Formats: sequence, C-alpha cells, structure tokens
Amino acid sequence: QYAKKNKLEQQIYNQQIDGNTLDRLQLINELKSAIDNEELVLFYQPKLDLKLKKVTHVEALVRWRHPDRGMIPPDDFIPIAEQMGQMNALTRWVMNESIDQYLKWKSQGIELCIAINISAENLKDVHFCRYVLDLITEKGVPIEVLTLEITEDAVVSDPENAIKQLKVLKNSGLKLSIDDYGTGYSSLAQLKQLPVSELKIDKSFVQNLMVSADDQIIVSSTLQLAHNLGLSVVAEGIEDEGALNWLIERGCEMGQGYYLSRPLDAEKIADWLANSPY
Ligand code: C2E
Ligand code: MG
Ligand code: MG
Ligand code: MG
Repeated sequence: QYAKKNKLEQQIYNQQIDGNTLDRLQLINELKSAIDNEELVLFYQPKLDLKLKKVTHVEALVRWRHPDRGMIPPDDFIPIAEQMGQMNALTRWVMNESIDQYLKWKSQGIELCIAINISAENLKDVHFCRYVLDLITEKGVPIEVLTLEITEDAVVSDPENAIKQLKVLKNSGLKLSIDDYGTGYSSLAQLKQLPVSELKIDKSFVQNLMVSADDQIIVSSTLQLAHNLGLSVVAEGIEDEGALNWLIERGCEMGQGYYLSRPLDAEKIADWLANSPY
C-alpha cells in the first residue's frame, strides 16, 4: 500500500516539474487530512424546474477551505484526490453532509432534493451501491432525495462494471444523471445502455447560446435526442436571460447557471429562496 502510494506521488511529481511542484506535493499531503480536519465545505447551486418555475433541487459542490491558501476550487483538488485514491472517502463525506443539510432545510420548511457528483473511482468500488442505499436507510430519507451526477468519462473507463452498479442504484429508485454531456467520449450506443433518467448538457454549449448558431443547433438536437430516448434535460451554464427563455421555449426541463444563482453556502440558500421569484 505504502509503495503504491509512493509510486503515485512519484508519478504526480514527474508530471509537474515546475515552480508549482513543491506546492502541489504539499497539497497532496494536506488533502489526506482535510476531511478529518473539517476543511471541506459544500456550496449548493439551485437547479430550477423550468416548467414549474420552482427550485426543486440543489447541486452540492465541494470546496476546500484551506487554512493558509483560502478557498480552493474542486477542479484544483478533485484530480489529486482521484490520483491519490481519496475519492471514496470524499464522496462519502459529501453524501453524509448533504443529506444532513437536506434534513436541516426540511426542519425549516424548505424541501430541496440534492444532486451530488460521483467519480469513476466510486463506480469501481464494489461496496459503493451498498453504502449509498444503507446511508439513505440510516438517515431515514426518501430515496428520491438524492440524484447522482456521473460524467460520461467515469463510465467509459470500465463500462461493464459501472453499468452494473448504476443499474442496482436506478432499480432502487435513485435518480441518475449524465453530467457534462457532450464533452466526453461516450458513443450513442453507450448512452443508450446507461440506466439514467437525466442528461445535463455541458455549460460550454449553453454559455454562449445567444451568440452561437452552432451551439443552438447542438443544444436543440440534444434536447430532441434526449426526449426521444425518454430522458429529461438539464442545461448548465445559463448566464443570461436570453438563454433561459430560449431553453424554456424548447422544452428543456431544468436549468442551472450564474444567471439564476451562483453556488451558495447553505445559509445563503434559504435567503436566496426567500428573495427569488422561484
Ligand atoms: P459540474 O458538476 O459540472 O458542476 C458545475 C460547475 O460549473 C460548478 O463549478 C459550477 O460552479 C459551475 N457553474 C455553474 N453555473 C455556471 C455558469 O453559469 N457559468 C459558468 N462559467 N460556470 C458555472 P465548480 O463548483 O467549480 O465545480 C467544478 C467541477 O468539480 C464540477 O463540475 C464537478 O465535476 C467537480 N466537483 C465538484 N464537487 C464535487 C464532488 O463533491 N465530487 C466530485 N466527484 N466532483 C465534484
Ligand atoms: Mg455536476
Ligand atoms: Mg456539469
Ligand atoms: Mg463540469
């Protein structure tokens, strides 16, 4: 185990021989204790139901509140956590924390389902399904409370096993969503095989929707494809009113983006809901 870890550190070290190397190595070491030291925090971004005009879900997005470096965004440490074999611990923490937050909101009269992001490593862990289902039972929440967002790439690395795990979760009533759709390497044949109910169009196709004829073609074709396959669609990266209305007119089911709200800490979510038209 130790030798394996050392080898990984060596690989990461070799990849990054520049001024940041020491910094990065230090981060790798610190990440191991970040969970125990309660340095991780969840922000929540509203997912708006475009038909009901109501926020029904929030996506939990992790940040690392580092004692010296301030807030570190997930793109800067999730890849390290993945390489270090820390994603099972991280995902478990995220799931626990966000279900507790769901219960806290519920006690304040706020009903918000939670979407969490899972990674390839979670789907490789044979105990993952059991853990998720046991946790839901233990916390006493309805299974519909949780949506799992999975990128295409998390499935592609070991499709057979991933699909097996996802089927168990889907059959138990969990909602599964394909994240960042359009940026990965999955084929339509693979998409058809995935037991998901929702497809999230990547923000890179949505951000410039109002000024890009190509993006409009991509998004409207994706909406048709998804709807014909019986999937509902979430558009992420809605940054202006034009894009929001364009998507509503074309029957997109849900929307998420800075125009609606940035990810907020849990306390601010209640204020935001109280002051928003949704
Ligand atoms: P994601 O799951 O695709 O999450 C959406 C990302 O887009 C978030 O970045 C969000 O803040 C950002 N975003 C939302 N609306 C807009 C918009 O209108 N414009 C722009 N430009 N960006 C927008 P964030 O929070 O930095 O997270 C980045 C990625 O890190 C996430 O992408 C997800 O893949 C990963 N991540 C975050 N939390 C977790 C986690 O708990 N577990 C795992 N496995 N991955 C996570
Ligand atoms: Mg996501
Ligand atoms: Mg995404
Ligand atoms: Mg993303």
